[in-house]
Amino acid sequence: MTDDRAQLLALRQRLQTLLEAAQDNERKLDRFDAVERKLIAAVSMAELIERLLMGCRDEFQLDAVELWLLDPECELRRTVPPDALAQPRWLDGYAPLAGLYGNGRTSQLLGEQHPALASAFAAQAGIRSAALLPLIRENVLIGSLHLGSTDPTRYDSSSGTKFLDRLGAIAAISIESTLNRERLRIAGMTDALTGLHNRRYFDHRSQIELSQALRHRAPLACLFIDVDHFKQVNDTHGHSAGDQVLRQVGRLIQQMLRSGDLAARYGGEEFVLLLPRTAEEGALEVAERIRLAVAGRDFSDSPTPLRSSVSIGLAVLPAGGASDLASLINAADAALYEAKRQGRNCSVMAAVKSAPVVTNS
Ligand code: GH3
Ligand code: MG
Ligand code: MG
Repeated sequence: MTDDRAQLLALRQRLQTLLEAAQDNERKLDRFDAVERKLIAAVSMAELIERLLMGCRDEFQLDAVELWLLDPECELRRTVPPDALAQPRWLDGYAPLAGLYGNGRTSQLLGEQHPALASAFAAQAGIRSAALLPLIRENVLIGSLHLGSTDPTRYDSSSGTKFLDRLGAIAAISIESTLNRERLRIAGMTDALTGLHNRRYFDHRSQIELSQALRHRAPLACLFIDVDHFKQVNDTHGHSAGDQVLRQVGRLIQQMLRSGDLAARYGGEEFVLLLPRTAEEGALEVAERIRLAVAGRDFSDSPTPLRSSVSIGLAVLPAGGASDLASLINAADAALYEAKRQGRNCSVMAAVKSAPVVTNS
């Protein structure tokens, strides 16, 4: 073979290698691009976390992905249902992040036998190389995304981190913007004074509860709770004392409920409850517990006592019976009116066919 031919062959091979590297890079870029687009498009925190954990694992063909999120106030974790498919590791304090990054803020590639591998992948043994991506917002480390492989050559400290840095930056931005969206969503469903759900949320959830009740032929109880002579509370003790009573009544109501029950502030000094799978007897029991708790409480934070009471109207959607939400709510509201008429501080069950049942023992 002449020198020229050998040179040509070497050049061809070099060109082929470069071409393959370029194609490889392009495929890599496409994979990163696909993941990043999905992160940006996530509509809820649960979905975003699922895309970070499972999306990255599948798209990058990894053996383990871990996500650590700093959440000292438990705000983030409240936006993720406990039964969500993918769960990050929630950090109550900064120490685990400091353990990984020290004072640094850059992506780290961990080769085989790196001592940080074991702590970065607590959930899975056998990870032999990894990339740790710091999640940073406004110069603050808010979490860490760990991409792990059983292949010891997958990540090594001589590789570039440009794609990974960008993925980390987009993940952090997505977490922040999803949290802001979740905050707005929660604020839109929450009554600012009591922290209970608001009427808008009640209107939405009650449709779901009704269809569940009808589908399962299960009873659904509705309770309307109205604070008695509340105008007098405001007039005598002042509006902020009135607010305090509403807050505490809201808290008492919340404490009496089971996890599937729905409580909302319906407006002013009126609360509404929906108790799934609860028939007359159970609903009256809950109503009486609430009524007695309110009547037994001194709402004052000064030496002058501040007593209050509530009247409660109840109606139950009979199991298997055809009914609608409006008539259930109207029946509970009418029963509340009846409780007021009968002297307040009592619970009245709307009668389906017979006379109303009054309880104020
Ligand atoms: P009843 O026993 O018949 O229910 O009498 P009531 O005085 O409770 O009913 P009324 O409807 O006459 O008065 C309700 C009062 O609740 C009037 C309103 O100013 C007050 N109120 C409504 N919302 C709030 C609130 O957010 N904070 C405070 N402090 N008062 C409120
Ligand atoms: Mg009222
Ligand atoms: Mg009232």
